[in-house]
Amino acid sequence: MITRQQIVDWIKKLDTVYSEQKDFLSRLDSDIGDGDHGVNMARGFNAVASALDTAQPADIGAALKTVSTSLIKTVGGASGPLYGTFFLRCAAAFAGKQEIDLDAWTAALEKGVQGIEQLGKAQKGDKTMLDAWFPALDALKSASGSGIKEALEAAADAAEEGARATIPLQARKGRASYLGERSIGHQDPGATSTMLLLQTAAAILG
Ligand code: ADP
Ligand code: MG
Repeated sequence: MITRQQIVDWIKKLDTVYSEQKDFLSRLDSDIGDGDHGVNMARGFNAVASALDTAQPADIGAALKTVSTSLIKTVGGASGPLYGTFFLRCAAAFAGKQEIDLDAWTAALEKGVQGIEQLGKAQKGDKTMLDAWFPALDALKSASGSGIKEALEAAADAAEEGARATIPLQARKGRASYLGERSIGHQDPGATSTMLLLQTAAAILG
C-alpha cells in the first residue's frame, strides 16, 4: 500500500528534485521554448511544499488538491494548468483515502492523464509531456498484479524512454510547435519533468 505520509514525502522530494534539475530543464526549454520550464517547476513545487506544511491535509485526496491549487496559482507557463489538472483529477480519485493500492494508483493516474489530454488537446507523438505519461501508464497497467515497487520502476523506466523518444519528434502542440521542423533533435522539457516526477515516485513510494 501507498500511505498518505508517503505521498506527502514524494511531493516534498519533488521540491528538492526540481530545484536540483532547474537549470537542466530550463536548458531543454531554451532549445525549443522560452527557457523557463525549470524555473516554473522549481517555483511551483517550492510553493507546493510550503502549502502542504500549512494545510496539513488529512488524506491523500486533500494533499493532492493542495498540490493542484498551488501549482495552478504559481506556475505561469502551459505546464502549470496541465500538471495542476493532473493532480486535481488524482485528488478526486483519492478523496478521503489514507492509503491506496497499485490498482487505485494506476486508475487515478489514468484519470489525471485524461485531464491533461482534455485540457491540452495533444496526442501521442506531438512531443509533449504526454509522450512520457502514455508509456508510463501502459507500463503500470501491464504491471498490475506485481509488487508496487516493481510497477513504479517499470513506469519510471517507460517514462524515461518516452522522454528520450521525443528527441526525433516534431512538436505539434505548445510553444515548441512554433519552431516547426526546427523542434526536431531536442528532448521535450515537459516529458522530462514528467520522467523526474515518476522516477521520484518509484524512489519514494516503492
Ligand atoms: P510554456 O511553454 O508556457 O513556457 P513550460 O515551459 O513550463 O510552459 O512547459 C512547456 C512544456 O509543456 C512542454 O515541454 C510540453 O511538454 C508541455 N506542453 C505544452 N503544451 C502542451 C499541451 N497542449 N499538451 C500537453 N503538454 C503540453
Ligand atoms: Mg517554457
